[in-house]
Order: sequence, then C-alpha cells, then structure tokens
Amino acid sequence: MAMEVVTTGAGLAKFSGGVFVPTMGALHDGHAALVRQARRIAAPGEGVVVSIFVNPTQFGESEDFSRYPRTLDDDLENCRGCGADCVFVPSIGEVYPPGAGAGVERIPRVATEPLLEDAARPGHFAGVCQVVRRLFDLVRPSRAIFGEKDWQQLQVIRAMTEEDGREIEIVPGPTIREPDGLAMSSRNRFLSQEDRRRGLSLSRALIECRGAASPEEAEGVLRTVLGEAGIEPDYAVVRDARTLAPGSGREWDGSRPMRAVVAARVGPVRLLDNMAWG
Ligand code: AMP
Repeated sequence: MAMEVVTTGAGLAKFSGGVFVPTMGALHDGHAALVRQARRIAAPGEGVVVSIFVNPTQFGESEDFSRYPRTLDDDLENCRGCGADCVFVPSIGEVYPPGAGAGVERIPRVATEPLLEDAARPGHFAGVCQVVRRLFDLVRPSRAIFGEKDWQQLQVIRAMTEEDGREIEIVPGPTIREPDGLAMSSRNRFLSQEDRRRGLSLSRALIECRGAASPEEAEGVLRTVLGEAGIEPDYAVVRDARTLAPGSGREWDGSRPMRAVVAARVGPVRLLDNMAWG
C-alpha cells in the first residue's frame, strides 16, 4: 500500500483502529524505531499512522516554537522507509478549530507533588495532554506508541488515557541512543561539539548511579557526575517509575520500580534522559 499524506481529520477515517505514533517531526532514528515498532505490532489490515505536528500549546513563551526544526520532506521519506501507511500533517487550524476551546486542559494526577518537568516548564504537560487528546480524537487509534525517552510524558499520557476512559493501549518504545550514549533528540543538532561532549555526562551519570545503595545516594552520584562536567541540572532525581513520587527515605522499600530522571540545560538545548534504577 502506497503511503498517504493526509492533512485533514476526514482523510484519516480509513486508518481508524490502527497503531499511532505522534511526533513533532524532525525525525531521527529514535522516531524511526517507534514507527518500525508500530509496523511490527500492527495486526494484518491495521494501519500505521504517524502524525507530524509542532504543537504550539506545549511551548512556553520563551521557548523555541518558531526555531523548532522542520524537515518535512526528509520526514516523509523516513516514514515511508519504516513502513508507515499514513502520515498526518495537520495545520494548526485543523487541530485547534476556532471555537473548539483551546482552554486549560486537565492534567492527570500522576504525582503527589508537581511533576518535575512541569515545574521547569509550567503548562507544558497541559499542552501535551491537550494535543494528544485532539490527535486521539482525530486518528482514533487502538494503540499509540510513546518513547521512554520522555519518561514523564509517557506516564502522564498513560494516566490521562486511563482517567479519560479511552480504550487506547499506550505502548512504550525504548530510548534510542547515539553510539556514544547520548539519547537521540531533534534538538541535538543545535549542540556545539563542546556541548555535545558535556551532554554525554547525562547518560554517564544515569549508568553510574545504578551502583548506589539507595535513591539518596544515587541522586548524589547523579549530581557529582553532572557537576564534574560543569552541569547544574534542573533536576537529577530517582523517583517511583509510575507516579514519579519521591522514592527516598522511609518511603523506599526496594520493591517498587524506580526511575532515575535528569534534565539539564547544556548550551542552547535542554537535554532530558532517564534510565531504570534499582
Ligand atoms: P517528539 O517529536 O520529540 O515529540 O517525539 C515524538 C515521540 O518520539 C515521543 O513519543 C518521544 O518520546 C519519542 N522519542 C523521541 N526521542 C526518542 C528516542 N531517542 N528514542 C525513542 N523515542 C524517542
């Protein structure tokens, strides 16, 4: 089946019930892996739909919405090579039609305190929930794949889908890394050689903290390794993998899955990374 490029919700009707991979474009091998995963898990006859939409409502005022990389021709080629059946490239008006109420969206409660990433980027997850709800309404998939690279986003989307009572299975896709360990990201292209070298300390810190005996000790290792690279992180913590609640002190009994999560500005780019801990 030749891949279709669709710009309206109406054009998506025949792909409903398929496997969906939402993206903001500027696709790299991490995105490609998600599309290939979608192709693998799609049942015979089920479509694989990739969306490419740079969502304005998840960017803060001082963030890089206008500078976000846009590489549509390469992206379409990439999707074709990975076996997508349909690439949905809507306009802003198609996703947010006038009068649809682009108001504040409810963020699911997945944490006992403000989400780490939301504290650094107020309103970010509200924007993410808003766009994913709209995209789910337009694409109407049976399953949707989200990367573990954005661990908090994956938990927020899982909780949102559950709270909304949607019958969409949220499937995680493993983080794809450069050969040196840097998690792939559309924004990595803005790193200078020196920034890139410093940025490697995120994955190094996450690997090194695995040897620690407690979450507190692991957080100490994260801060030390990042500090040695001259990086002051926005956060570098070990949390409950699902709820993102702090796992330190008496609350940690070693039985729950934990996740080490890090975010730091390195040169012009905010880098995010995470790994399983404990
Ligand atoms: P984005 O285009 O950055 O919004 O990302 C679209 C999807 O790709 C999200 O589900 C991301 O978590 C996922 N993704 C981004 N980078 C990677 C990566 N390096 N490995 C796996 N998935 C990724």
